Amino acid sequence: MPPVTVACHAMATRFEIVLHGDNPIALRAAGEGALAQVEQLEAQLSLFRASSEISHLNARAARGPVRVTPGLFALLLQAQKLCEESGGAFDITVAPLVRCWGFMGGDGRLPPPHEVAEARAKVGMGLVHLNRADFTVRFAREGVMLDLGAIGKGYAVERAAEVLREAGVTSALIHGGTSTVQALGPPPGEASWKIAIETPSTAPAASPTLLATVPLKEEALSVSGVQESSFQEAGRTYGHIIDPRTGEPAIGTVLAAVVLPSATETDALSTALLTVGAAGHDAIAKLRPGMRTLVVSESGGQLQVEAKGIEVRPVG
Ligand code: AMP
Ligand code: MG
Repeated sequence: MPPVTVACHAMATRFEIVLHGDNPIALRAAGEGALAQVEQLEAQLSLFRASSEISHLNARAARGPVRVTPGLFALLLQAQKLCEESGGAFDITVAPLVRCWGFMGGDGRLPPPHEVAEARAKVGMGLVHLNRADFTVRFAREGVMLDLGAIGKGYAVERAAEVLREAGVTSALIHGGTSTVQALGPPPGEASWKIAIETPSTAPAASPTLLATVPLKEEALSVSGVQESSFQEAGRTYGHIIDPRTGEPAIGTVLAAVVLPSATETDALSTALLTVGAAGHDAIAKLRPGMRTLVVSESGGQLQVEAKGIEVRPVG
């Protein structure tokens, strides 16, 4: 039986689901239900929609506590925990720095130092108070802004996968913009889904080569890359992932990948891993048992690959 495929455009990217099973009508209905979940989450979590719950929160929480839905509150608590665990490398308060470096809806620019200093003063999870007693969020000052860009797609993929499971789907693959992919079961007659990771290219025109093929079964994979959005200035590449600890775009790492059961966690932790790079690889990989990771660093046009539990092809 050929698989059923459904797709939608959400969170500025394409979400796609491939479903295997014997009842194409039921599979399609399950797939459409999962995509409806993604669209609902986009309406709630997108910074680029003035009507979203997160935009409402960002606009008001500096003036007083804002009550949020239990789902968003739980996601914010999870983001706070991942921030602590990653030593501040993953931080959803990074938005003022993302904007200052020109990456909020753009491809970046070199800001004057005083602007970076101003933005840094508005960044840090310590500026966000999450009150578990009444599900309210309060910012310690004006200018604090939450950006779920590094965790929202993974969260949406994970929630969509839950919709599929509840509908009885046992074999499917769902991805959001190819950066986060979650597997339900393996495909029929096979041991696992096989996901390709391309070698990040320094030359934009170069044809893609395969860096690794990652087998996935009941697990998620997220890839964070500088290639997605970056600019060059004086021979240095500045990417869209900012190190909240320094206020500057993460340097030296061009790609990071993480495999774990939860797509929310892989999304956040691949961003954290790209931020800390090879120097912080061990610390991130220790956070969860059985975590598989990949870090690609670049220096002087040469790529250096470090992997834990992922088989890598020779590059060069
Ligand atoms: P991802 O592609 O999942 O790695 O997410 C990258 C996006 O998350 C960026 O485009 C920014 O909007 C935001 N971001 C950048 N740096 C960080 C960081 N250190 N922690 C959390 N979010 C970040
Ligand atoms: Mg991420």
